[in-house]
Amino acid sequence: MNIVQPSTPPPLSPELIAQFRSIVGDKYAVTDQADIAPYVTEERDLFRGRSPLVLRPGSTAEVSAICKLATEHRIALVPQGGNTGLVGGQTPHNGEVLVSLRRMDKIRDIDTASNTMTCEAGVVLQIAQQRASEVDRLFPLSLGAEGSCTIGGNLSTNAGGTTALAYGVAREMALGLEVVLADGRILNGLSKLKKDNTGYDLRNLFIGAEGTLGIITAATLKLFPKPRAVETAFVGLKSPADALKLLSISQNEAAGTLTSFELLADIAVGFSVRHGIDVRHPLAGQHPWYVLMELSSPRDDARATLEAILAKGFDDGIVDDAVIAANLSQRSGFWKLRDEMSAAQKPEGGSIKHDISVPVAAVPAFIAEANAAVVKLIPGSRPVPFGHLGDGNIHYNVSQPVGGNTADFMGRWHEVNAVVFDIVLRMGGSISAEHGIGVLKRDELPDVKDKVAIELMRGIKAMLDPLGIMNPGKVL
Ligand code: FAD
Repeated sequence: MNIVQPSTPPPLSPELIAQFRSIVGDKYAVTDQADIAPYVTEERDLFRGRSPLVLRPGSTAEVSAICKLATEHRIALVPQGGNTGLVGGQTPHNGEVLVSLRRMDKIRDIDTASNTMTCEAGVVLQIAQQRASEVDRLFPLSLGAEGSCTIGGNLSTNAGGTTALAYGVAREMALGLEVVLADGRILNGLSKLKKDNTGYDLRNLFIGAEGTLGIITAATLKLFPKPRAVETAFVGLKSPADALKLLSISQNEAAGTLTSFELLADIAVGFSVRHGIDVRHPLAGQHPWYVLMELSSPRDDARATLEAILAKGFDDGIVDDAVIAANLSQRSGFWKLRDEMSAAQKPEGGSIKHDISVPVAAVPAFIAEANAAVVKLIPGSRPVPFGHLGDGNIHYNVSQPVGGNTADFMGRWHEVNAVVFDIVLRMGGSISAEHGIGVLKRDELPDVKDKVAIELMRGIKAMLDPLGIMNPGKVL
């Protein structure tokens, strides 16, 4: 996708490149286009950007010096973490300077008494999880890209993932932030406090801002008790309505120990089994819908609770078949099937993607209405809904008709968006539940967001970034 912004920045002079280079050192200022290529291309190849310079700072002071110099010369910057974002926010679409935070990967402090961990922005999520586990704690944020995405990116996109049901989204896991502002000032908010009512909540401004207000350089995160027992089931059922009933039973029986509840359409499971490496169907027979659910408990009661939930599901005629993972490898297999779901759509041709949320109770009606509307618009198109039912968040993807023309199908992206978003908004939902706005949904935002909210967002942007150098053209 080629995103053209209204104003393209002027080329960087060799003198200015040399000044930026002197901040990070020769080794960490990348100008060779072959070396820049992986930073300006994202994994699905949906967006391709360009940049004359990638800077890889190693400290907050270096990030500050970069921002100061960029302000002096009105140079636009694009912050980047793991480059796994799905809305084109981390891509320099118009030749901006890219600031990669990946070198800032230190864990500065782990405090098990306060249950906090202070990480630099470039710490990979999986490393943060491992380090927490090593001190017998849990950092619960979990998503398919966790081997590559970074804490800075997770906070900047306010990532959700598969455990938001129990632990909340990234915003709820952050206690404090260190942020470099556009003019180079450093906001030191690395607080470990849960309670601090001393004025406006500045931290939350930067979480979910997608790099448009400043560069997050470090964060103090909450740690949680490590569960002693984790039990996972893969369930076959007839409909999203039955899945919703099973969710209600599960929440009543398991309360806060229900940590994941994923709804998967049969077609989504089929793609994953067909195209994923080492992915096997967990059940003997096929069902129209599946639920992947997980309980994590500090006691040894998770298995009994899960069995009781499934038994009630069978008795009520909601559950048609189910298997509980017998060991860690089987559990990993269930999650692998789920994690491969996005990638498995690529071999099926074009896929028009939506990341929507509606009130949990409205999910079955949303799926039914959206399926009918999309297939009416493009006969033969294949809706592939899956996602976090417990959060009302569905990845409503639509694959092209079998044997159809991919370019023609992808050319209808905005038409399909319009049909789906219309249903979402009618149901009181959001057009971006997890992935953010970036450039992908930027043009739709003013039509779907409260007018006063948009005015306030523009005011905050103008105050914190008056020259508009922070990730220009994203979100607003
Ligand atoms: P990037 O992609 O590098 O950047 C994302 C945005 O944050 C950009 O706007 C960028 O400018 C900004 N940014 C990055 N670092 C900083 C920083 N330090 N300071 C300021 N701005 C910054 N997302 C979910 O929410 N839930 C999921 O379940 C989920 N599953 C995924 C599964 C797969 C297979 C993939 C590929 C992606 C998935 N994502 C999901 C999307 C993505 O992984 C998340 O948005 C993730 O949080 C991005 O982190 P990142 O480090 O890769 O950020």
